[in-house]
Amino acid sequence: MTTATIERIETRLVDLPTIRPHKLSVATMYGQTLMLVKVYCSDGVVGIGEGTTIAGMAYGPESPESMKLAIDLYLGPALIGKDATRIQLLMERVGKLVKVNHFSKCALETALLDAHGKRLGVPVSELLGGRRRDRLPVAWTLASGDTAKDIAEAEHMLDVRRHKIFKLKIGAKEIGTDIRHVAEIKKALGDRAAVRVDVNMAWSETQAASAIAALADAGCELVEQPVASAAAMARLTRRFPVALMADEILQGPESAFDIAKVGGADVFAIKIEQSGGLFAAQRVAAIADAAGIELYGGTMLEGAVSTIASAHLFSSFANLQWGTELFGPLLLTEEILTRPLDYSDFELTVPTGPGLGIELDEARVKRFTRDGLTKVTR
Ligand SMILES: [Mg+2]
Repeated sequence: MTTATIERIETRLVDLPTIRPHKLSVATMYGQTLMLVKVYCSDGVVGIGEGTTIAGMAYGPESPESMKLAIDLYLGPALIGKDATRIQLLMERVGKLVKVNHFSKCALETALLDAHGKRLGVPVSELLGGRRRDRLPVAWTLASGDTAKDIAEAEHMLDVRRHKIFKLKIGAKEIGTDIRHVAEIKKALGDRAAVRVDVNMAWSETQAASAIAALADAGCELVEQPVASAAAMARLTRRFPVALMADEILQGPESAFDIAKVGGADVFAIKIEQSGGLFAAQRVAAIADAAGIELYGGTMLEGAVSTIASAHLFSSFANLQWGTELFGPLLLTEEILTRPLDYSDFELTVPTGPGLGIELDEARVKRFTRDGLTKVTR
């Protein structure tokens, strides 16, 4: 068995602009911050990981800054000198030292998996049980806030064969306005594209009950997290000819089990960061499969590193009935890889090289790194 110890861990914040403002019910994003972590091992192998949130702290309790702090002061020091090849054991150890902090832990676990894949000469997908598919369907989110602009954007995506599944971010406006927005877009796109919505918990149960019926009539096929509680989700599930998907309430294996127990969703949006890492997300998928809940590969609008880490995991799932939304890197104006990811024919290609199978363009990363905050733990 190969052995290698963890020698140092480096964290940095990388601020990147988005191609357009991205409007959600919780916030409007004008840029995205990636917390990048590098794990340097005694055998010369370096693994990379990423922690990214949606809209600072408007979506959840962790921010890029808090993730960096958690790694710099708590998680990182606990890993120095330890065997880098025992990833599950290491994550169990840091799990005892630091509660929750799912995103920070996911960033570290990703870096350890990338390093170990490089060390063994295999893709991360093979460390997770082996891939079942090399390409993943990728949905696009229309969130300009303007119906005509969204239709034009969708038409462009269909023309260039990049996306044919569209998710609309609704919930911030009056319900009637939102329904008209969805209906107009579905009418314009017809059978050429699938239309889904994400409400990000903005509705009460009674609002959801009337709105979901209208969304079904408009041709919407999936409603993501219309309300905040699993109990209300359970009462709404199967009352309408559309699927209901859990996202925000899905915070790892324990919550997955709780939601499954009450029948609180037709579909799980699995996210590696929200789950607490790739192995935790794998357990969420197992619970879904056992409960007859369908799967969708979610995103935290991550950059290339976490997007590809997610892709390796999703490629290994037995079921992935609703595809993925791994479009995060396409929302950013700047390329931070030496070789861009392959998005073509409505799908993303899962890299085949060792580890994550991607390489950072260090000069580009440096250019967008927030000054004075790069930290090395030894
Ligand atoms: Mg969502």
